[in-house]
Amino acid sequence: MKKHEGRILFKLQASILALFFFMSGSIHALEFNWFNDDKEVEMISSDLEFLYSLKFSKTNLLHNKVFGEGNKNTYKEFFEERINTIRKSNTMANMYAFNVDGYRDTIAVTNNFFKLPRLLRIAILIHEARHSEETGNHWHHADCPIPHLDDHGKPFVSDIDGGVLLSGKRQACDSSRLGSYGIVSIMMKNISENCENCNLEMKEQAHKIYQDIKKRIISPLERRMIENNE
Ligand SMILES: [Zn+2]
Repeated sequence: MKKHEGRILFKLQASILALFFFMSGSIHALEFNWFNDDKEVEMISSDLEFLYSLKFSKTNLLHNKVFGEGNKNTYKEFFEERINTIRKSNTMANMYAFNVDGYRDTIAVTNNFFKLPRLLRIAILIHEARHSEETGNHWHHADCPIPHLDDHGKPFVSDIDGGVLLSGKRQACDSSRLGSYGIVSIMMKNISENCENCNLEMKEQAHKIYQDIKKRIISPLERRMIENNE
C-alpha cells in the first residue's frame, strides 16, 4: 500500500469511529417492559418525540438552571440522562405513574396515565424523572399545609387533578421550587411563553398546567420566584 493510500484509509477509519461514537452518544434506546398493548408504547414514544421536537425562541435563567443551557434538545437530555426504562404497572391503580424504588432509572405507568391528555402525560414523565435523582434525595414531597391558601386567602384547588382541595393533602406539595412539581411548572411556563412550533391551544394548555402545578409549592416566595424566572 502506498503511503498516501494508508493515510486515506486511516482518515476513513477515524471518520467511521467518530460516526460510531456520535451515534452511540445520540441514540438512546429507551426500554419498554411489561406492556401488553403496543399502542401504549407508541403513545409514550410519540409523546417524547413531540417533547423533543419543541423549539424555543429563548429560555430563562431559572429554566436553564434545571434543564441546562441552550435551546437545543433540552428536555431530551434531561430525560435520557435519568431514565432508561418505562414499564407498565397493573398495581397502584390509584396513581398515574411512579419512579420505581430501587430501580431509579425506571418509571412505571398505570392505566390511568393513558387517560390523560398529552401535555399532562409529558408533565408526569418529567416529574418522575426528577425523582430519580440522588442529589436532592429524590426530591421527596411534603404534606400540603393546613390551610394552603393563595395570595387572596382562598384555599388552593387543583383543577387539573379533578378539583381536589390541596390543604392538608398528604405528600402532594413541595417545599422547594426545584422539586418534581416545581420543575414541571418551570417547563410548562417555558412552553407556554417561548415555544416556537406549538399551536395556541398547546400553549394555553401549558399555561394552565404551569399555573396549576405551581399551587403545590408551599412557599409563596418560591412561587413568586417561578413567576419571575428566578
Ligand atoms: Zn412525585
